[in-house]
Order: sequence, then structure tokens, then C-alpha cells
Amino acid sequence: MANQEDNFKKVISHAKEYGYVFQSSEIYDGLSAVYDYGHNGVELKKNIREYWWKAMVQLNENIVGIDAAIFMHPTTWKASGHVDAFNDPLIDNKDSKKRYRADVLIEDYVGKIDTKIEKEVKKAEKRFGDNFNKQKFIETNPRVVEYIEQGKSILSRMAKSLEKEDLADVKALIEELDIACPMSGSKNWTDVKQFNLMFGTKLGASAENAMDLYLRPETAQGIFVNFLNVQKAGRMKIPFGIAQTGKAFRNEIVARQFIFRMREFEQMEMQFFIQPGTQQEWYEHWKENRMKWHLSLGLGEENYRFHDHEKLAHYADAAADIEFRFPFGFKELEGIHSRTDFDLGSHEKYSGKKLQYFDHETNRNYVPYVLETSIGLDRMFLAVFSNSLQEEELENGTSRTVLKLPAVLAPTKAAILPLVKKDGLPEVAHEILEDLKWDFNVTYDEKDAVGRRYRRQDANGTPFCITVDHQTLEDQTVTIRYRDSMEQERVAIADLKSIIHKAVDMRTWLLKMEDQRA
Ligand code: ATP
Repeated sequence: MANQEDNFKKVISHAKEYGYVFQSSEIYDGLSAVYDYGHNGVELKKNIREYWWKAMVQLNENIVGIDAAIFMHPTTWKASGHVDAFNDPLIDNKDSKKRYRADVLIEDYVGKIDTKIEKEVKKAEKRFGDNFNKQKFIETNPRVVEYIEQGKSILSRMAKSLEKEDLADVKALIEELDIACPMSGSKNWTDVKQFNLMFGTKLGASAENAMDLYLRPETAQGIFVNFLNVQKAGRMKIPFGIAQTGKAFRNEIVARQFIFRMREFEQMEMQFFIQPGTQQEWYEHWKENRMKWHLSLGLGEENYRFHDHEKLAHYADAAADIEFRFPFGFKELEGIHSRTDFDLGSHEKYSGKKLQYFDHETNRNYVPYVLETSIGLDRMFLAVFSNSLQEEELENGTSRTVLKLPAVLAPTKAAILPLVKKDGLPEVAHEILEDLKWDFNVTYDEKDAVGRRYRRQDANGTPFCITVDHQTLEDQTVTIRYRDSMEQERVAIADLKSIIHKAVDMRTWLLKMEDQRA
């Protein structure tokens, strides 16, 4: 646990030191759960967004994009159910005065049981060696079976109580499990209350006729209210999708996990409109497709898992999360939701406008069903960044900090380094930079010994270092050093572009989706 915390602290401080993520308004002591992205952060974020957009929009003929405004007519949030039901159950600890989400306290408790299971599996793996059958062990080992049962029964009781709005039972469960405040160890809890997560604001100049608005808590509704506009203007035929990336705002109760849970964040959502009755098939399709997208980045198959929801949101008939192993354990990274005709149906009712599709083949009108994929861009950033940050022991007894970002996402693709600051080497290095900068984000560095510069670029996540030395002046070759293997190769300046291109090209990376097994 202490190790997990240390690792997470390292992630946060590295993100700051290398210009990835800063606390918002830091000079005023910051704003809780709000963050700014630095010069590297903005590039990484942009690359993740583009990687998503290409996979979802550019590569799918039947998916198009939109960019809806953050402000929406207030009735939107009545129709979507957010005014009445976008609540989290909160609980305060009377001694520490810390506020928690009651469901998260319980889920973390179950997370600890999961860790125990993982430990048992690892122990057995060591004991049985090559003969180990993991699946069988999980299904038959009495201790593991008991842990699994325990976890399931806790989650299912919580789901039922939340569904019935039986908040007294949620508190009773916390007390029965003997859950203590993680900050103080105190078990002195208040009752559980519901708390609406939407931020309110006002539109209009004078107080009397100002209109109460909300900052959107999800981007999805901007897609639903534009369903007909897009369908008609794009002459889209079902099945088709509308994708959007943009800011969303939630007044989160607990916001102590860096960019995992923010009050202002960015979502990347796609709503796929389908014929009623086909939702099961599309649900499976998008679960698999999205998992393949994640796996294509090579962060390790063992770091992902599906989690099927016990408690379904008011709009869903099936839902699953893709969970990722963050520095603090497995947590939701993306949601795949079968939303039925809830949203379009509800907007029809509230707006009085028909939001239907005319199917020429069957000659009938219907309200389409919707399959949604929804991922937080910042959360994806954290997944990539935390997984990539590694401390490596080297053969010569030293160690290095290296940020092994997938090359396709790295903010800077190559650093051009003159070996020394004289003899015309900086000039040649600049020439190379001037040429490469039209194709890639590249940087120049001449300060300190070249070994230190390599380390700096390793920590920065730059996949290639290109060193210009005296031989370059004679034969137009440079050394290229690979971040991950630290190997160096002598190559012609003329080949640099194609070497880098091969390593960072989105096409190459996205094609890896086809090799993945979800
Ligand atoms: P959680 O249970 O973690 O609060 P959620 O189930 O409410 O998340 P959704 O409403 O399904 O999340 O939102 C879709 C995605 O948006 C999530 O999978 C996550 O990646 C991202 N997301 C949601 N809330 C936040 C937040 N406060 N900060 C950053 N990303 C978020």
C-alpha cells in the first residue's frame, strides 16, 4: 500500500517536473481537483484525442463528429434525468471531517479483497510453476472462492440499496464491514445523503430575467439533441454514430486522486444509433472494439479487465466498464453503455419534437436505441502516463527514470543533440531540426554532457535522440538512440524521416487493433 502511494506520488511529481500537469492556480494554493496541462501535457492529450478520433471517426464511414456547446437549454438536464438522479451518496466522517462517496468506500473495501485474491494466485503460481492452472485455482481454492463470494455479496447488497434509495442500509453496510476513514481510522460516520453533481450557473445580464443553467456533466446530451440535425444533414442511415470530445463538469464529492477524478475534465464519447432489438449484438461489438483500441497501445493486456455493472444507471439495460490498473488499483477507465431509447424518447417527450428515424426498408418510424462508448481523456492520460513511468536498474549498477510512452502518443518524437557546442555541429543539428519539424514535434538540446541529455529525454518520454558528431560532417550520418532499448545505431540523415515515421505513424499503431484479442 505504502509502495502504491509512493509510486503515485512519483507520477504526480514527475508530471509537474516535466511540464505535463500542473495544479490549477497553483500560485493561489491551487483549486481542488482542477488541473492545467503544461507544454508536454497538451501534446500528449492532443495525441490521445487524435488517436481516439481517428479510430472512431476517420476509420468508420458511418461515424461522424460534432462539437456541441457546453451550455445547453436547461430542460436538457430535466429530460436526461440529471436534475433528479445525477447524485452520488456522500458520507462524512465526524472526527476527521473528511467527506467520502459511500459507494467508493465500499468498492475500495472490495478492492482490498481483490488484492488478497491476487496474492493467493501469485503464491500458488510460484508453488505450482508451469503446471499452474489459474482459472481452475480461482474456481476451486476454498479461500479464493470465499473471497469472491464475499466481494460479490457486498457489491450486490450495495447495488440493491442504492437502487431502492435505501441510504440507511448503505450506512449499515459500511458499519458492518467496519470500514474506517482512510485518513484518520475513525469509524464515526454521519448518515448517507444524496448530493447532485451538476454545477449551476446563470445566463443573462440582469438578475430578474437570468436563466438558470448547468455546466454540462457529460458531452452525450449534445449528441442526442442534435440527433436529427446530423442524421438529416449527413443523410445518415442506421446504424450510425456521432462522436464528440469536449469538456464536462462535475462537482465531485471526493477529489483526491489527481487527474483521475476532476471537477472539470474532458470526455470522448460516441453514441451509436441502432435498430431496437439489436442492442445486445452492438453492445458486444463495441466492448470488443474499444478493448482492442486500448490493447493496440501496448500497455500490457494484464492491466485491463471488464467489469459488468450490477447497478444500472436509470438509462441503461446493460453496462460494462473497461478497468485499468492505475497506481492505486483497478478502476474504471471507460464505460460502454446500452442506453436503449431512453434519451431520445425522453427528449421527444420534453421538447415535443419527434426524434425518430424512418426506415425505408421496413417502411416504419422508430426511436433508435443507443449504444454509448464513453472515456475520460484525462483518465486515459493518467493510464498512459502512470503505466509508462518506470524506474530501471541498469547493467552498470546505476538506474534511470524513463517515460516509456507509446511512440505514437509521445509529445516530442525526437531530440536533436550536437555532441559538442562547437566545430559546426550545432549548425548541422539545426539543419536537421529545420527539416524534421515539418513532419514531427522535435526539439533541440545542447546543454550538458550528452549522457545527461539522453537521461533528460528518457524522463521526458522522447522516443529518439539523434546525435550529431564529427563523423556527421564527413559522411552525413548521425547516431540514433532508442529510448526503450538504449541501443544506438548509425544512420544516414536522409533516412531519419522514414525511421521516425515508421515508429510514430498512427496507421501502424491503429492497425494493431486487428491483431488484438479482446
Ligand atoms: P465514476 O464511477 O468513476 O465516477 P462514472 O461511472 O460516473 O465514473 P461516466 O459517467 O460513465 O463515469 O463517465 C464516462 C467516463 O468519463 C469515465 O469512464 C471516466 O473515464 C470519465 N470521467 C467521469 N468522471 C470523471 C471525473 N470526475 N474526472 C475525470 N474523468 C471522469
